[in-house]
Amino acid sequence: MRVSVSGKQFVFPRSCACCGAYPLTELTVIGAEKNRRARTQGWTWEIPHCLKCKKHVKATEILFLVTLALTALTVIAGFVVGLITHYWTFGLATGAVTLFTVSIASWIAWRILRAKCSENCWGLTRSVIYLGSSGSCHSFDIKSGFYASDFVLANHHKVVNASPKVASILRNTSFGNYQVPRRMIRKGD
Ligand SMILES: [Zn+2]
Ligand SMILES: [Zn+2]
Repeated sequence: MRVSVSGKQFVFPRSCACCGAYPLTELTVIGAEKNRRARTQGWTWEIPHCLKCKKHVKATEILFLVTLALTALTVIAGFVVGLITHYWTFGLATGAVTLFTVSIASWIAWRILRAKCSENCWGLTRSVIYLGSSGSCHSFDIKSGFYASDFVLANHHKVVNASPKVASILRNTSFGNYQVPRRMIRKGD
């Protein structure tokens, strides 16, 4: 769920953003962008996580990088084999076979990681992703439904441009949805 909030400090509710367990650690979300004077501005937010979830998020990120690197290597290896032997079909076959092996191996690794995950986990990857900012308005993509509603409720006075989903979370509360300000975005801003 996409949630936009205005300000610098936001409340990230004290529960694991992935599974909802008691958080003993956090994962840092980093946002950076260039301002008008081409200076890079950066923000960091600590998103509470339980130890298990931090582990599986990190492991998934490593798995993703390793798969990407192996895929690139496979393509290069196939090309080099073709170049050396001059049998391009052989090079292509080598590349295809190793690529197949890499995808099977990463699929198995993915399944193992998923099996280790708790049932309450929203998924293997990060549950809170920073989408970017426009002025003081920051947007997050919050994957786990419960954490998104907790976040909206905890930061209700900072929510801007509420989507129908965000508005529906606020509708059932005393804050209502009529207080949500809208931020106009100028073209070319
Ligand atoms: Zn967790
Ligand atoms: Zn998890």
